[in-house]
Amino acid sequence: MSTPRIEISLEKISHNANTLKDLYGAKGIHICAVTKAVCGEPRIAEVLVKCGIDILADSRIANIRKMRDAGVDAVFMLLRTPSLSQAADVVTYTDLSLNSDLSVIGELSRQALKQQAVHKIIMMVELGDLREGLMPANFLDAVERVLELDGIALAGIGANLACFGGIKPDDDNMARLSEIAREIEQQFGVILTHVSGGNSANYTWFMSTENLGRITDLRLGESIYLGCETLFRKPIQGLFTDAFTLVAEVIESIIKPSVPYGEACQNVAGDVPSFEDLGEIRRVILSIGSQDVLVSGLTPRAEIDILGASSDHIILDAKNGDYGAGDEVRFDLNYGALLSAMTSPYVEKVVI
Ligand SMILES: *Cc1c(COP(=O)(O)O)cnc(C)c1O
Repeated sequence: MSTPRIEISLEKISHNANTLKDLYGAKGIHICAVTKAVCGEPRIAEVLVKCGIDILADSRIANIRKMRDAGVDAVFMLLRTPSLSQAADVVTYTDLSLNSDLSVIGELSRQALKQQAVHKIIMMVELGDLREGLMPANFLDAVERVLELDGIALAGIGANLACFGGIKPDDDNMARLSEIAREIEQQFGVILTHVSGGNSANYTWFMSTENLGRITDLRLGESIYLGCETLFRKPIQGLFTDAFTLVAEVIESIIKPSVPYGEACQNVAGDVPSFEDLGEIRRVILSIGSQDVLVSGLTPRAEIDILGASSDHIILDAKNGDYGAGDEVRFDLNYGALLSAMTSPYVEKVVI
């Protein structure tokens, strides 16, 4: 098989998705599966749909189109607030989108009318993390204006935490979201189908809370793929954490010093690095580098250390490992490494 490659266990993804669907479903929470980390890979999307997950969410229209073109049968949700310039495509290719900018929602309305369509939206509330979302104080006014728009249906409200600011979803901010949902329903006489409480970081809150309030949905990516929650990156019991494996190939294996010699200036990253003197070590070079994958997000499965990387090479301390050219080295990936490897055209995607 060619290298570098990412091996994808559909069975493990399926197990994780089913387990999370049952766990959250037992208390009435509906799961949307987020496909952006796997670039909308249709073979993975198919597996998620087979688990009974009916909403697939992605931040990019290109990924949604890829899944649609492959015949994946799901409701497609656009996660990233649409660009104004994308509004026509959002209406054409997605079933619903998360939104927080009134001028963008206005444009979605115009485009929906042009296409004689109704576009569903979930309006996002800012609850502390300071990425997307309208401020709570202005939220009801914004809802009032949205309800007057033709071509737009308000399907629900949502929030997103633990992404930019690292703010934890807890009983306070989730209760705030529930309260806003109730206020909207009372004031405007509408029913919100989706009260979308957050992402994989909501696991800890979900497991500990005694009151889910009006929260109906969560949007899960990382916990399905990597089997962990995302506040502390702790594994979730019963899930696989190794559904993805990065495999790279040895192109050189030679005993050399552990400290570079000559006059030290900047390296390829613009840093002046420092090194611990370990004496002579077996230095193994892999034919993969920072152009292919976020190297800092890799953890070797074997007892070896990553010493560093340049754009096309990773350099390892092989410790006692016996490696030669042609041997394969396997790694676990964190979310950033998964994103980069799935996005890289240089990394082959192999479904197993
Ligand atoms: C990426 C994203 C998610 C999924 O986050 P995970 O941590 O992978 O579960 C959910 N909601 C929004 C808005 C996102 O951008």
